[in-house]
Amino acid sequence: MSQDGPRSIDEHTSEDGGDVSTRPLMNRRLDGLGTTIFAEMSALATATGAINLGQGFPDTDGPEEIREAAVRALREGKGNQYPPGPGIPELRTAVTEHQQRFYGLAFDPDTEVLVTAGATEAIAATMLSLLEPGDEVIAFEPYYDSYAACIQMAGATRVPLTLHAPAFRPDLDALRDAVTDRTRLLLLNSPHNPTGMVLTQEELRAIAELAVERDLIVVTDEVYEHLVFEGEHTPLISLPGMRDRTVSISSAGKTFSFTGWKVGWITASPRLVSAVRSAKQYLTYVSSGPFQYAVAEALALPDHYFTAFREDMRAKRDLLAAGLADVGFTVFKPAGTYFVTADIRPLGESDGFAFCRALPERCGVVAIPNAVFYDHREAGAPFVRFAFCKKPEVLEAAVTRLARLR
Ligand code: PMP
Ligand code: GLN
Repeated sequence: MSQDGPRSIDEHTSEDGGDVSTRPLMNRRLDGLGTTIFAEMSALATATGAINLGQGFPDTDGPEEIREAAVRALREGKGNQYPPGPGIPELRTAVTEHQQRFYGLAFDPDTEVLVTAGATEAIAATMLSLLEPGDEVIAFEPYYDSYAACIQMAGATRVPLTLHAPAFRPDLDALRDAVTDRTRLLLLNSPHNPTGMVLTQEELRAIAELAVERDLIVVTDEVYEHLVFEGEHTPLISLPGMRDRTVSISSAGKTFSFTGWKVGWITASPRLVSAVRSAKQYLTYVSSGPFQYAVAEALALPDHYFTAFREDMRAKRDLLAAGLADVGFTVFKPAGTYFVTADIRPLGESDGFAFCRALPERCGVVAIPNAVFYDHREAGAPFVRFAFCKKPEVLEAAVTRLARLR
């Protein structure tokens, strides 16, 4: 969604001088997608040596015993050759046990779970398998950048509904009004990246009622399910009428601090899993063999792992939020995720893109301009996102550097 992406060429001359084609090189479905902001900003952080509070990855790996479980799997030859397409049985079972333990939800590991290459592939396969060209997908903006890309690659149309500061709560009347005969699905994300908003029980109930009334499929991106600081996470699929119309997506990357392993999964009814699997089998077929064994063990970690992980992140949230407020940002303290959104206007700034592009040079810190997560770019212009999944001393150093903005 970056602004200056590699737009297709209309005329191109080859190296030997011959005309190649007047046809655009790139498929129109990739129009305007460009390079993801995460790649752009992480490259900037590397090039400038800035503290990277942009792309959301922790600077500390997850539990040692889980890392060792991956090593063991590799050494024992588990998953070094193609595992089963839907995912190894151990992991599918671990996913169902996790859903039972945390939410009281029962799924069949053979027909109601699909292991994917991170939540990213789950989102892509879901969109590619469930959408027809011309279908409309309603999503709350700002939204995670792969949503726009996947909806577009599926040939469907996105219908953005803006979440407004300071609370970034969804406008449920606007949602109801936005549903048309062409609406195929709602794409929800709670806890919400980048604002940290967590949908309440009432909001979930209203969304479920609307989905049933208008016969919509709802795709829920729940990758931050274990990072809720206020309230609690409730999977929409647990609400009345939603069991057979929800695709619930999650991933190990955030919960276990192994974002590079790219192990994700969906839980849904057999007909939805079967549809998504149809697309998924031709995207990667299967991925992350040995890591699937390790994630199966991670999902079975005792409750105190999940509690300690959340409390550690809560302390980091508080540290960074207070630091940013001291610097002069207006800070929207997140109820969930490991991102904090801040308003740059009190610092005399208004363009988050320009601010983030200059920030490494000015302060040695990288942040993400929230505008990339909006179709209505102007609605997100004054907001920037900082990741706080970093060591306390790194967050402190970042705040010290940002104090130059005062
Ligand atoms: N959805 C959201 C909201 C995210 O922030 C991310 C980044 N972790 C993803 C999906 C992608 O997750 P994964 O790395 O498991 O593909
Ligand atoms: N989910 C991470 C974020 O929002 C980044 C993932 C990615 O680089 N695609 O920062």
